[in-house]
Amino acid sequence: MRVTFPHMGSSPIAFKMLIEKLGHEPVMPLRPSENTLSLGSHYAPEFACIPFKILLGTYLEALERGAEMIITSGGMGPCRAGYYGVLHEKILRDLGFDVEFVVLEPPQKKTMDFLRKLRRITRGKSLSVVWDALSTCWQKLRVLDYIDELSYEIRPRELEKNETTRVLEECYQIIDSAWTREEIRESRVECEKRLRAIRTDKTKNPLKVGIIGEIYVVLEPAANFDIQRMLGDMGVLARRSIYLADWTKNNTFFKGEDHIKKAAKPYLAELVGGHGTLSVGNTVLYSREGYDGVIQLAPFACIPEIVSKSILGKVARDLDIPVLTLFIDEQTGKAGIKTRLEAFVDLMHSRRKIRREALV
Ligand code: SF4
Repeated sequence: MRVTFPHMGSSPIAFKMLIEKLGHEPVMPLRPSENTLSLGSHYAPEFACIPFKILLGTYLEALERGAEMIITSGGMGPCRAGYYGVLHEKILRDLGFDVEFVVLEPPQKKTMDFLRKLRRITRGKSLSVVWDALSTCWQKLRVLDYIDELSYEIRPRELEKNETTRVLEECYQIIDSAWTREEIRESRVECEKRLRAIRTDKTKNPLKVGIIGEIYVVLEPAANFDIQRMLGDMGVLARRSIYLADWTKNNTFFKGEDHIKKAAKPYLAELVGGHGTLSVGNTVLYSREGYDGVIQLAPFACIPEIVSKSILGKVARDLDIPVLTLFIDEQTGKAGIKTRLEAFVDLMHSRRKIRREALV
């Protein structure tokens, strides 16, 4: 069967291997482009949030290239994410696509449903094959997250512009060709070696920014204009609050977000859906860790991020940390984002200077 799935950062490299190991043919989702967004916007309800539109466009592009099955994740809680799967499927069927649509819901909440759908995907494969596919995919996801994170640490200090980006592309190829547990382990070692070999200015103490917000726009560079790379090129160390492997772990069988929710509690104790509470909690944590600023990425009309934005003003004042909110929709352009980032970076530089001068 020809199978496709959403494009989210570097994760397609891991999901491609998973699909192949389960005996299917992957139809690789294209990196979202203007065409993807305009396709999705054309067929989506006007007020749907931007991740919905990009995903719809991604599915349409994959269906045009012969995909027969779409595998995606569902969602729970008070936000629209839980309806994405149903609505996407309905739109695609109305457009005449006879596609098998599998929405994997969080297994800790809907265990039987999750297992039933997993059986649909694995189709008669032995337990050991399924285990190998899932566990090596997981291992690859973790390596990809680690290498991405490392690249964001190195880029602001690189001496030769674009070298980190070039080496990172090589790393993706190395990780992509790893198939066994051992090869994936070796790929991590090799990629780390290449990234750490990049010549950097070790004396530089770059501005530190935390990226918070809705998962899709935080993880997908095409949806956020590659903001982490853009900041890195400006000499700023941008760390994001969400990585796909961690998020999957925390939202399936393990609870890893309690400390973030606890940090948010004085400001927001209710569940507002999406990543609203985590955006507030992470801002508190970033301020405690001495970050120079926080950037919130929010899809236009995303209720959880609108709620958190209304609270972040108070958090910023109380904890003395600047917060920049960037709402993203189909009208947002790279030049506008870059201008706002440059102004924010200037602001953080002057705050640092003032603090330094106050110390002497
Ligand atoms: S979190 Fe926001 S962007 Fe994501 S589905 Fe919910 S409302 Fe839409």
